[in-house]
Amino acid sequence: SQKGKYPERFAFYNLDLERNLRRKITLNEALKGALDRNEFRLMYQPIVNASGHVVSFEALMRWRYKGQEISPVEFIPLMEQSGRIVEAGNWVLEEACKMLAKMVQQNAEICMCVNISLIQFYDKGFVNNVNQVIERYAIPGHLLHLEVTESIFQSEQMMVNQKVSQLQQRGVKFSVDDFGTGYSSLSVIQNMNVDYIKIDRSFIQHIELKGLAIVQAVMNISQSLNFSVIAEGVETEKQRQMLEDCGIPYMQGYYFSRPLEQENALNYLKTAPEQELATGLA
Ligand code: C2E
Ligand code: MG
Ligand code: MG
Ligand code: MG
Repeated sequence: SQKGKYPERFAFYNLDLERNLRRKITLNEALKGALDRNEFRLMYQPIVNASGHVVSFEALMRWRYKGQEISPVEFIPLMEQSGRIVEAGNWVLEEACKMLAKMVQQNAEICMCVNISLIQFYDKGFVNNVNQVIERYAIPGHLLHLEVTESIFQSEQMMVNQKVSQLQQRGVKFSVDDFGTGYSSLSVIQNMNVDYIKIDRSFIQHIELKGLAIVQAVMNISQSLNFSVIAEGVETEKQRQMLEDCGIPYMQGYYFSRPLEQENALNYLKTAPEQELATGLA
């Protein structure tokens, strides 16, 4: 048979593509039954206030498949493409609220942040589902925070604002996750009727260089547009100090704590001073 000019390069290229594709197909197939096989669980990462006390936890999905942890960065997009994210997202809401109810029993005011996929937010049953879960676990609405990305505000503004405000009327808070990494125009940002902005980790990582200007700008906008700010991915004392100097009220990152297994998160709470917890996310 005829060989090309760079047969080895092409061979490697095809192997990579093929390997990626085969992995996608395998994981997709495995994801079909993952919920029923109880392969998902949640971990909880603390969010702290200016004095370093935990005010909230972010629920983060984990998937153990054949003894291996697969990152949500890999499996969430797969579930979004297959539509399976709606069912999985409801499971996350349910689990997170169950945990929140446990924490409320231990402490007066601690919040739970739950990531909501665009597909899940746009689903017809979304508002109803959230309401039902809140009622089932008798959760005070204001303790539930839903993290969405800028992308949900790009189209269907009427529908989006209606859903957001319906839940806000129940007390539920909205945060914009990974802020700054989307491509929202300033007018879209102006019309986002949310309670919190989470500045993406990439800006915190570079805060000693150009990131500082972005963090300061977000702080300024937050005051005029009336939302509060959370810094994501704080890893060093230097970063924490610079964020404090900018007046950032809430922070999250490995510097404070990695995501914790449920038991450890509950213990983490027990050891924290109750008075400090009583304020929650303001
Ligand atoms: P995210 O919502 O922005 O969550 C923050 C991610 O950053 C988490 O990764 C967390 O473990 C990681 N992180 C926190 N602090 C630090 C730090 O100081 N340094 C570094 N390098 N990383 C830090 P994780 O758990 O792998 O989740 C990745 C993404 O997957 C999340 O980003 C979120 O977009 C998505 N995701 C996770 N759980 C869910 C879920 O239940 N539903 C949906 N729709 N998406 C989820
Ligand atoms: Mg998040
Ligand atoms: Mg984020
Ligand atoms: Mg994210």
